[in-house]
Amino acid sequence: MSSTYLIAVGSNRRHHRFGAPEAVVRAAMEECASLGTVTARSPVIATPAMGAAQRRFANAALVLDSDLSPTALLAACKRTEREFGRRPGQRWGDRVLDLDIILWSGGRWASPGLTIPHAAFAQRRFVLTPACTIAASWRAGATGLTLAHHQARLTRPRPLPRGAPFA
Ligand code: AMP
Repeated sequence: MSSTYLIAVGSNRRHHRFGAPEAVVRAAMEECASLGTVTARSPVIATPAMGAAQRRFANAALVLDSDLSPTALLAACKRTEREFGRRPGQRWGDRVLDLDIILWSGGRWASPGLTIPHAAFAQRRFVLTPACTIAASWRAGATGLTLAHHQARLTRPRPLPRGAPFA
């Protein structure tokens, strides 16, 4: 049975053949078409480096209809990352390609090494910004909020704590 997935794509290193991270992301999105039918692609956005990463990232999101199970899709994503030259153990550092499964039409999934919705999606602008351009009304997470609502929560200014001094 076919499922629908939201996949996040990121890169912050050049690829010897594809070139700059933006082109790596575009090439990876093409590659994802071999896993099913890509029904929507976001624009590629630039986001600042975070964690141990030195260089800014290119990020995008896509919607994929696929017969693959979540675990089979994760294995395919990891295979694609390897094919693009990512070395195991590169977490949070500079990486040629990062593919994350953010949501799927089946709702929740939890097995060793795979959690859907992706555990950090609601805290990541670089996921929500492109995702909202193609799947803003998708309801996600324990709250059942739409992605647009998650993004609004993340980007809205927070009130200062009581008693905070003026800068
Ligand atoms: P990352 O460094 O972001 O590629 O994530 C590393 C590990 O997160 C992978 O080896 C996966 O087993 C695990 N993981 C857990 N949930 C997910 C998910 N929803 N999508 C992708 N990777 C996941």
